[in-house]
Amino acid sequence: MYSNVLYKKSPIFVQNILLSTKELARKIIRERRSDDPFTQLIFKNEKAEKELSEYVNERLTATLAESRKDVPFYKQLGLDNSANLAAFPYLTKMDLNADPDSFKASNHKGIVVNGTTSGTMGMPLSIPQNLTSVLREQAFLARHLKWAGFEKGDKRAWIRGDLIVPLEQKQAPFWRYSYFEDRIFFSSYHLTSSALSLYIDKMADFGVDIIQAYPSSIVILAKYLDVHDKYYPGKLKSIVTSSEKLSEDDRALIEKRFNCTVFDWYGMFERVAAIANCEHGRYHILTDYSHVELSDCGDGLHEIIGTNFNNSLYPLIRYRTGDHVVLSDEQSCPCGRVYPIIDHIKGRVADYLTGEDGQIIYSLYHIEKGVDGLMATQFVQDFANEIKVLAVADEQMFDGKQQGILIENIKQYLGQSMNIVIECVDCLPKTKNGKVRHAICNI
Ligand SMILES: [Zn+2]
Repeated sequence: MYSNVLYKKSPIFVQNILLSTKELARKIIRERRSDDPFTQLIFKNEKAEKELSEYVNERLTATLAESRKDVPFYKQLGLDNSANLAAFPYLTKMDLNADPDSFKASNHKGIVVNGTTSGTMGMPLSIPQNLTSVLREQAFLARHLKWAGFEKGDKRAWIRGDLIVPLEQKQAPFWRYSYFEDRIFFSSYHLTSSALSLYIDKMADFGVDIIQAYPSSIVILAKYLDVHDKYYPGKLKSIVTSSEKLSEDDRALIEKRFNCTVFDWYGMFERVAAIANCEHGRYHILTDYSHVELSDCGDGLHEIIGTNFNNSLYPLIRYRTGDHVVLSDEQSCPCGRVYPIIDHIKGRVADYLTGEDGQIIYSLYHIEKGVDGLMATQFVQDFANEIKVLAVADEQMFDGKQQGILIENIKQYLGQSMNIVIECVDCLPKTKNGKVRHAICNI
């Protein structure tokens, strides 16, 4: 919607109305009332060890049984009805991409929500969700927002990569309003050095209680305050971050300059694990969200391997995330919740590109949307005005038309003056650990 011609050409007050209406529709569809039974259940279980463990066992057993019965990939393994989790093979993204349909339950009826991600490793992935999956995800996120102090009527700021301000617009305001939910959306794409003070002043003027942000978007504001030895002029309850790695240094800087606690959420597109900060700053593995195995990789690191509880349409079992955690010595948390504690997440490296105005763009997740035939990409920027795209693609599908769409997408996020060069390659260069970086900025 935000990139369509009608929205772009509308005056700002009309954009505010369009945004408000769209967000109201989302709110109605997605928002769960606090008396909804599932929301009540997950709140009740978080401090009740026995009930939590019963719930988790019930979900795991049901997930394994449904998969054996209705999902082709698991059916063909011919596992015994009593087979426990250990009998199931590990999965990787490569397995899903090799035969995506074999993970789809054959008996599904009802709404299917299709999602696609380019992934941080540059290999796209599609996962369909049923309605239960969408609603429960929302319930867990809403619970975390409550942990962060959110109450009905609180005002929120949102800086999470939404294209709500056309890139062609070079003058403030770089924000739009969602009237029905007291939320102000800020553009992550206009965070140029000259605009940072405007963002901070606008948040304070609006009387924001909670900021929900990509780490990269809030860090740049915290760094601006730090450089000028200033503090956020308003009074915040908390800042909620997710979707990118948050370093401990950055967290400390944000907490100092904004004078509030940061509640970080680690999740992923595959929805096989969620790890969230409580008000005492501990990271808890949410064991009612999914089943998590931690596989020892040496050097104090454990890989997160997860089994999804809430999407019987596309159940992922023992999925290797490639992300790592460092375990904590603490057995319990002052918050009283009974979830395991981990010390910190050694997640994915945040790669970025630089836009035409010098703005740093971390969120490259949308660039490959709507482009057919792409299997993996890497963006390389050796010059300020040029992006080279290394693409592993199906040669027939990824034709001139698709390349044109990709070029337009990149320009939409990085600026129309960018020169884009696409180079089709057999495989992408790897780092020392065998990983592929999604973006390399050499300027
Ligand atoms: Zn805690």
